[in-house]
Amino acid sequence: MPPSPSALAFIPFVSVENMMRLVHHFGIETVLRELTDAIEADFRRWPLFEKTPRLASHSEQGVIELMPTSDGEVYSFKYVNGHPSNTAKGFQTVAAFGLLARVDTGYPLMLTEMTLLTALRTAATSAMAARHLAPRDAKVMAMIGNGAQAEFQALAMKAVVGIEEVRLFDIDGQAIRKTAANLRDSGLRIVACETAEEAIEGAQIITTCTADKAYATILTDNMVGAGVHLNAIGGDCPGKTELHKDILSRARTFVEFEPQTRIEGEIQQMAADYPVTEFWRVLQGEAPGRSDVRQITLFDSVGFAVEDFAALRYVHAKLQGTSFFQDIDMLADPDDPRDLFGMLQRAAPEAALVQAAG
Ligand code: NAD
Repeated sequence: MPPSPSALAFIPFVSVENMMRLVHHFGIETVLRELTDAIEADFRRWPLFEKTPRLASHSEQGVIELMPTSDGEVYSFKYVNGHPSNTAKGFQTVAAFGLLARVDTGYPLMLTEMTLLTALRTAATSAMAARHLAPRDAKVMAMIGNGAQAEFQALAMKAVVGIEEVRLFDIDGQAIRKTAANLRDSGLRIVACETAEEAIEGAQIITTCTADKAYATILTDNMVGAGVHLNAIGGDCPGKTELHKDILSRARTFVEFEPQTRIEGEIQQMAADYPVTEFWRVLQGEAPGRSDVRQITLFDSVGFAVEDFAALRYVHAKLQGTSFFQDIDMLADPDDPRDLFGMLQRAAPEAALVQAAG
């Protein structure tokens, strides 16, 4: 995978425009299926990865996070924010970019937008968990919170799990109409609902994907019947949860990386000894997944760096043989590696010409 040293002065940059071209070129459902497999493959080699709870910079309005990891050969990080009040200003709640680098030289391999890629990888991660934890033959999902992530979530559950019907609810009717319109030609049966209670009627998978910097109660205990799979992805920050804690008392809870989820997930509401299973253990056969049809399974997802690592490597591989990137001159490449200053000096005449012309 790593390019030759002489090519390292330039690295591919994937803009938002090129990410959209790439997704359309391969087809969104194919991308979601392949991404799910790529993320699952990396979860299966979980112990290899360097893992740390992400570094979060909190403010009253939201959070800015850095999410690094490495498998010893390749390193990645993502910069991502979470600002629930942003949409009122016309900005995204979540925006991101990320970088992939080789460990042996520390040189970057690719820089890319990750706002779209985060929506894709979050949906793929949800689908990965659901295909192992949801009731067999799940055909109906509820989607509570119809913002930027919603359509990606629904399409991944269709492509990977075989969901046929999506029941939509949001406190903002405009968000429901937007999601219903965007999914019109998806092949999914779309049901727009007036309440969260109506949305979860008959659903075997319930996804909560709301944004509010608060201990919100999107689902109360009496709303959640036996045998469902809960995919809670909106509670992902200290002081930001979606489920009433009584639901957690009845559920078998699966997490990505326990030390991070204890800080950020639904389980921040529970005592430190509340039992959870890291999901990779289910894939390794070290822990059971769903063990009976009446069990409530909860994937308490906050998003972890290994998912971004897998997504970045997936995109890097997909770029080969395409034109969905620009080469950017991001690395200084002096002929003599120790003569960085000489390189700067030799550029002076050209810089002067550019200045004179400008
Ligand atoms: P968004 O702001 O675009 O959409 C959020 C939607 O939730 C809005 O339409 C809003 O009206 C709705 N909402 C708020 N309170 C509600 C309530 N009580 N009931 C029903 N709907 C409600 O945000 P987004 O980009 O779709 O992200 C949604 C959430 O998912 C955010 O909290 C974000 O931080 C989180 N997220 C998690 C992961 C992860 O890996 N777990 C990844 C990406 C985003």
